[in-house]
This record gives sequence, structure tokens and C-alpha cells, in this order.
Amino acid sequence: MVARELTEIKIPSELLPSDGRFGSGPSKIRASQIDALVSASTHLLGTSHRQAPVKNLVGSVREQLCQLFTLPESWQVLIGNGGASLFWDAATFGLIHKCSQHYVFGEFSSKFATAVQKAPHLSEPLIVEAPAGTVPIIETAQCSPVDTYCLTHNETSTGAMMNLLRPNQPADALVVVDATSAAGSIAWSTDEVDVYYFSPQKSFASEGGTWIALCSPKAVERIELIAKSKRWCPASLDLSIALENSKANQTYNTPSISTFVLLNNQLTWMLENGGLDWCISRTSISSKHLYGWAEIRKFAAPFVVNPEFRSPVVGTIDLIGVDANDVNAVLRANKIVDTDSYRKLGRNQLRVSMFPAVEPTDVQKLTACIDFIVEAIS
Ligand SMILES: *Cc1c(COP(=O)(O)O)cnc(C)c1O
Repeated sequence: MVARELTEIKIPSELLPSDGRFGSGPSKIRASQIDALVSASTHLLGTSHRQAPVKNLVGSVREQLCQLFTLPESWQVLIGNGGASLFWDAATFGLIHKCSQHYVFGEFSSKFATAVQKAPHLSEPLIVEAPAGTVPIIETAQCSPVDTYCLTHNETSTGAMMNLLRPNQPADALVVVDATSAAGSIAWSTDEVDVYYFSPQKSFASEGGTWIALCSPKAVERIELIAKSKRWCPASLDLSIALENSKANQTYNTPSISTFVLLNNQLTWMLENGGLDWCISRTSISSKHLYGWAEIRKFAAPFVVNPEFRSPVVGTIDLIGVDANDVNAVLRANKIVDTDSYRKLGRNQLRVSMFPAVEPTDVQKLTACIDFIVEAIS
């Protein structure tokens, strides 16, 4: 069908979700977060990040993260500017001692591995790779002394989820987890992990440009050890500087204050409703519906074949005999946005985020809209 005809298809209003944002980051921001931003407008926005009001806000974010993830007292919440992608570079300088092993199963996990491969001060990393839509098996490194295992909790580019497990050997190796789209939506245990890092524009319904890393005492020790060594590190990537600033509820350079207002409000909302368990129950209601629907439709199928590895937060659905671009064009014309598949994956696919902010009933409405569109364009 030609583009103009597609965008003229009107989905009946009773089928439309209450909110049309299904993107995997930036993702839906709730209306009450915007209210919080408006009420912060004079006493927080536009004020110094070195003074008590903003420092207290950062402190509240750090405290609420400890509560949400029931972190042991000994863990530290580190915060810095630049998002999860910057954290890959910071980890390349300040977490990996000499050699890392990466589990690669999509675009994000592969980007971190590539960053490490290019670092002149590290040895060639070991890569355990699995095809898109599957998950690699976590195992102890076969040769050479690996000091850092790099895992990805949820591969946002494919919609595959990995169970986090600590390899047995070596005993002092760190387990560093990219949890950018998983944090706040999927369960994990602090026993299996040393660094759990993410950006706030996914489950936390805030803005991009900030990274957060939950660090075990072992990880803090590694950061301090490397900082004492002779290795050169740019200050903006220096995790020991980030650690010192975070302890004082600050960032090394000026942060986006609105990001923290939105994030703080989302954390309060999550905790008031029942914490991480409640968030997980919401994403699992949404994702059970999405995958169940795709399984019984002739024109759709979940991309991740093994149900055990299907992400509860980023659902990838292959379309058969219907062009996903056409479906997305009609959705967008009806204000339902960002259901496009990850560009580089190159599949005829829809990708639907089901972060806690997304109403499970809206995921049901979305599938009803897709049914309507497929009927209209077939
Ligand atoms: C979104 C995402 C990133 C990149 O986050 P930025 O904040 O854009 O740097 C990294 N890893 C995963 C798993 C992601 O989903």
C-alpha cells in the first residue's frame, strides 16, 4: 500500500491505548512525573548542583535505588554523566584490570566488547557469542586469567533476556552487568553480580545522558586499585572520581537536574506500589499477553523461540506476510509510536517495550490495534 493510504487508516478510538508510547528508550514518562518537574521548577531546576536542594535530590535517588534493589549496606550507588555507553568506556579504563570475557548476543553487548578490543592497555578480550534471538551460556573462561565477566541482562536489540550467574573461576573476577533496559523490570541477585549499571530512560522513565552503577565492595576495591596504578585515565571517565562525588551526592560535572526529578518521582512511584516485585508483576502481565497473542496469530510469532529467554520488557514479534513498516506507519499516524524493530537487526519485526510505566491494559489495546491494521491492509 502507498504511504498516503496507510496514514489515512483511522483506528477506532475505542481500540486506542491510553498512551501510545511503546519505545525502548527514551520510553513513556508518566504524567505525574511531569507534574513533579513543574513543581520542581523554581526550587530545583536552574539551581546549583553543589547546594543542598539538588544534593538531597541525588541522595534521595541513591537511597531509593538501595531500597528498590534491597542492596546490602556495603554496596555503593555510583552516578555520572554520559549514559550506559559512556560507562563502557569508564569500565574499559577503571574496572577491567587486564582481560575480560564478554557474552555477546546483540548490538549492545557487542558494542562493549568492541570498545574493549580497541583499548591499547587491555589484552584481547574473550568473546562468547550467540546468534540474535538466543542467549549465550555463561561459563568459566577456558584459557587466560579473566578478571572481569561482562554480561547483559536484557539485550534490547533482540528482546532476549539472560539469567545472571557468577562463573566459578577465578574467585576474584568481577561480574559486570549491562542492565540498561532490565533494571527495575527483571529480578536479579546481588550474590551473582558486582556491578549492575544502567541509564534512567528505560524502566525509570526519565531522560538519557546519565549512568548509574550499583557496585559491590569487590567492585569498589577494583576501582580503587586501578586508580592507584599508573594507568592513565581521563577525569570524566575516572570511576574513582565518580565514586568520591557519588558518596557526596554529586556528579563530577554538572548533571541534568530534570533527569533526577523524573527519576526520583518514578522510584517513589515504584516503591509506593510494592517495589521491584510489583514492577516485575506488571511487566510479566504485559509480556504474557503480548507473546500469547503473537503465538496464536497466523501473521505473527515471537522472535525469541525459547520462552525462557523472552524478555518481559522488550518484546520482539516477527510478522509473516505483513510488512512491519506498513503496520508501524499506520500505528504512528494514529499516535502509537516507536514500535519499530532495532534497525540493525534487519528483520520484519515489531518491538514493544513493556516497562513498568506502560499500562498492561495498553499492551492489550496495542495488540487489538495491530489486529485491526492487519485486517485493513491485507
Ligand atoms: C539503551 C541501551 C544502552 C545504551 O544506553 P545509552 O544511555 O544510550 O548510552 C546500552 N545497553 C543496553 C542494554 C541498552 O538497552
